[in-house]
Amino acid sequence: MIGTCALCQKTADLQNSHLIPKWAYRRACEVDPGDAKAPVYVAGGNAVLSNKQTTRHLLCSDCEQRFSNRENYVAGLTELDNGQIKLFRNITRLDTPKKVLASLNNELDGDQIAYFAASVMWRGCVMTGGCKLGLYEPRFRQYLLGTSGFPPEAAISVGLFDQSPNADARGWVSEPASTKTNIGWLHGFLLAGLAFRCWVGKAIPGEWQHVSLASPNPTKYVSIIKPEECADFLAAVEIVGSAQPRGKLAKP
Ligand SMILES: [Zn+2]
Repeated sequence: MIGTCALCQKTADLQNSHLIPKWAYRRACEVDPGDAKAPVYVAGGNAVLSNKQTTRHLLCSDCEQRFSNRENYVAGLTELDNGQIKLFRNITRLDTPKKVLASLNNELDGDQIAYFAASVMWRGCVMTGGCKLGLYEPRFRQYLLGTSGFPPEAAISVGLFDQSPNADARGWVSEPASTKTNIGWLHGFLLAGLAFRCWVGKAIPGEWQHVSLASPNPTKYVSIIKPEECADFLAAVEIVGSAQPRGKLAKP
């Protein structure tokens, strides 16, 4: 389909781009202990046990490649390794009071994760409007194109779900969603055992930018989260609980 690429804005043969990479859905099916054939899918207040995958003719093949390079990188980091994702091997847990902070051993991991997370949030903005980047959309677009740095008014982070006897958060996939808070907008999504968050706004505390994956600081930090302590996760559970079940979930 010929059209304007949403990223580089050139006229091109547009690829059928996925909002959330395909492999993330496949992973979710693999880890589901209930042997479900499809992941629980959370978006817009609907809980659906399905393989619904949002796609749109969005990008030219060069831009599609740009995104898929980072998707493949993150796919590698989230492969299963002894019941945990491989990324756990690349972090050093820090001696903080609650032991919830770790540093990345490889700076490149931080860059690739930040780009990947920003690309999914941007797609959520231009494909469905579910992620509300507002006036910052062009800034994210330029960062993703490589024509400017990460927006300075934004702080991006990733949390790794720790193993928990109560819940296996690796089976969760959510499309990016946004919440307005008193210090700015919070955008986030979950996949493959990771929780991505991005704060955007002029009032975001400077320390948050300092620990952002996109900061110039060579040490990159990640958080370790118990699924039951993760607000995103709980919000997702709540949505599932209150949403109208459809498809397979609707059956008794
Ligand atoms: Zn393009």
